[in-house]
Parts: sequence; structure tokens; C-alpha cells
Amino acid sequence: MNIHEYQAKAILRDYGCPVSDGRAVLKAENAKTAAGELDGPLWVVKAQIHAGGRGKGSFKEADAGEKGGVRLAKSVEEAAEEAKKMLGRTLVTHQTGPAGKQVNRIYIEDGSDIERELYLALLVDRQTSAVSIVCSTEGGMDIEEVAASTPEKILSFSIEPATGYQPFHGRRVAFALGMEGPQVKQMVQLLDKLYRAFTEKDMEMLEINPLIVMPDGNLKVLDAKVGFDGNALYRHNDIIALRDETEEDPKELAASKYDLNYIALDGEIGCMVNGAGLAMATMDIIKLYGAEPANFLDVGGGATKEKVTEAFKIITSDKNVKGILVNIFGGIMRCDVIAEGVVAAVKEVGLEVPLVVRLEGTNVEKGKEIINTSGLNVIAADNLSDGAEKIVKAVKG
Ligand code: ADP
Ligand code: MG
Repeated sequence: MNIHEYQAKAILRDYGCPVSDGRAVLKAENAKTAAGELDGPLWVVKAQIHAGGRGKGSFKEADAGEKGGVRLAKSVEEAAEEAKKMLGRTLVTHQTGPAGKQVNRIYIEDGSDIERELYLALLVDRQTSAVSIVCSTEGGMDIEEVAASTPEKILSFSIEPATGYQPFHGRRVAFALGMEGPQVKQMVQLLDKLYRAFTEKDMEMLEINPLIVMPDGNLKVLDAKVGFDGNALYRHNDIIALRDETEEDPKELAASKYDLNYIALDGEIGCMVNGAGLAMATMDIIKLYGAEPANFLDVGGGATKEKVTEAFKIITSDKNVKGILVNIFGGIMRCDVIAEGVVAAVKEVGLEVPLVVRLEGTNVEKGKEIINTSGLNVIAADNLSDGAEKIVKAVKG
């Protein structure tokens, strides 16, 4: 689960990390009051979306102005004006894709003087089974370019889980970032706080880009992007409360409410499968026959009729779906339950695209009978490749 920059900064502030004073704004009419509560003389007005690259992004609507999603203002009035221009408009960045994201929240914060922009991130590194610190002297808005053309400028340090963070980790990072004197001590302390926030809140990623060095030599967290481990959210009600559902794919949101493993993709064939491995194989074989899957969907082993119905509804609500392949190998999951769910869902939402059903395993005869006597226009398939071939043919002709 991801959160907004201003929410991430609030968490880091609680851990004692240096961040600017700022105010989140949801309605344009509150922007002026919010900006007025800050000291100035420089205000930074920042679009809050769950995507990076805002500074270099651009808005779809002409009335949002030429500038990107991070704007400087020299007065309270100007800050309020910029906030008004961005709210409700669509920001396109290299991370949002061409469709962009609607800006529903703005963060207005104190402007900082910047001497150097550094890159600092903590992440769970699956290769080493440890938390890694990634850093670079070349922070700021061109980090992707740095990673592509001069990857040697990005350094990584692993933290041994048994010892946790130790001051020497911090010193290593500080030296790698070219720090000296009291700055090294600041870095050691900052990383201690970041590591505590990271582990205590079960973060998956904490990216600070840029971490700045100010003219007085002090460090400040100027941007923060945080993702949490979804499997650990049950023990963080404070984090769950930060969820912004408008940032999430409505289909994935509905799926999470029914505990379905669903991920939206760009293709045209909707898939309903039981078991993650079979779901992966089904996506592969759809590609093999020349089409693209519209989603990954694992209904799981113990799915009920209601869950299957909901899964089917989610698939059919995707306008890109031109055909559906149900591929079930019934083990714990019974074929008749799947069949009942499919029939119930079709009766409720209708069926406007071809549907291929392949059932195998527990109660397969009962399942097939339910489908065959339902009066639905279903194409039956005997095995995985037969199913894939049939649905691709039905869609592509
Ligand atoms: P994004 O990474 O989405 O482009 P950032 O928050 O990193 O957004 O902002 C982009 C750039 O804007 C930063 O690299 C920094 O140069 C500048 N910036 C951001 N916040 C401030 C601030 N509070 N004061 C001064 N400059 C800022
Ligand atoms: Mg940034």
C-alpha cells in the first residue's frame, strides 16, 4: 500500500526526521489559509498523487498552466493560485502512464534553499533477505537517467538483520555521499530514525529523493515516497487509515474487499483461475496463442459462490475485456461451486463477450452439468491449451 508524500513526511516527522513545515489542502478555497500558516518567503506547492516525477510532469488541461506538479510561489496569494490551478486537473508523469492521475490533494510547504540534492532509499532486498540502503550523490529529478547511464554512481549497503542498523552503516553512507564533520553525525542519526520507521511500520520501500544539504550544512528530507507491506497492514491501523482509495484501481480495490488476488493488466482476455501457478500458466498460454491477458486473477482454494460471482463482475467491468477464460483445476476448490458462481454472475451482470470454460478435477461432472443446463452461451474446453486456443479464436476470429 502506498501513501502520499505529506503523509509519509508526517510519519518521518514523528520519528524526529528533519522535514519542512507544510499543510495538506483538499479544497481550493482552503489554500490561502493553509499557505498563510507557513512562514515563507518561499512556498512550494506540490501535487499529491501516488506517482513520482511530478516536478517534470505536465498537466493535460491548459488551464492548469505550463508548469509541472511541483511549483514555487513567492507569496501566499501566488501559492493559493497555483494550488487552485492544479486541484482537479490531470497530471501526467513518466510514472503515471499516458492517462495521468487526477490531483485531488495539494501539499503546500515551506521552500528550502538547496546546495546539494542526494538520493537515499531503504528497501527490502529479496536477494540478500535484508534491508538495503541505496544512495547516490546525484539525487533530484534525473535519478532515472543516472541509473541508466552511470549506474556506478548508485551505491547499495546491506544491513544485517541480526544486528539491525549500526552507526557504522550511517558513516559508510555519509562518506559515500561526500559528507564531512558534523554532517556525518547528522547522517548517522537520520539513518537510525529512518531505519526505525522502516522496520517498525513494516515499510517495503522508503525513498527520499531528494535528501538535501542546505547552505548551513544541515540535512533535510525534501521528498518522501513510502510503500508498506500489505501482509503486515493488519497490525497498523494508523497506516490503514491513510489509504487513499481514489488512487487505486477500482477493480483491484473491489477485489481486495473480497480477498481475491487480482491484478489489472492491459490485455483483452479476462481470466478467472484457481491457484497462482495455474493463473500464471494461463496468462502465458494466452500470450502463446497470440492475445494478451486483461488480468491476473486467482480466486484461491476456498472460494465461495459469492466470491466467484464478485470475481466475474470485476472481470466484466473492465471495458478492455473482449473475452473471458475460466480455467479451473478443482482440488480443494470444487468445480460445481465455480460453475454456480459463473452462472449467478452472468445472470446478474449479463454476458456480452465470448466465455470459454475449462473445468477439471473435483465435482467436474456436476460443474459441467450446471453450465450446460444454464442456457448460457458458453464454449466448453477440454484442457488448458484447448481453452486458450478457443478464447483467442473467439476474440480474434
Ligand atoms: P518529484 O520527485 O515527484 O518530482 P519532488 O518533491 O522531489 O517531486 O520535487 C521535485 C524537485 O522540486 C526537487 O528535486 C527539488 O529540487 C524541488 N523541491 C521540492 N520540494 C521543495 C521545497 N520544499 N523547497 C525547495 N525546493 C523543493
Ligand atoms: Mg522526488
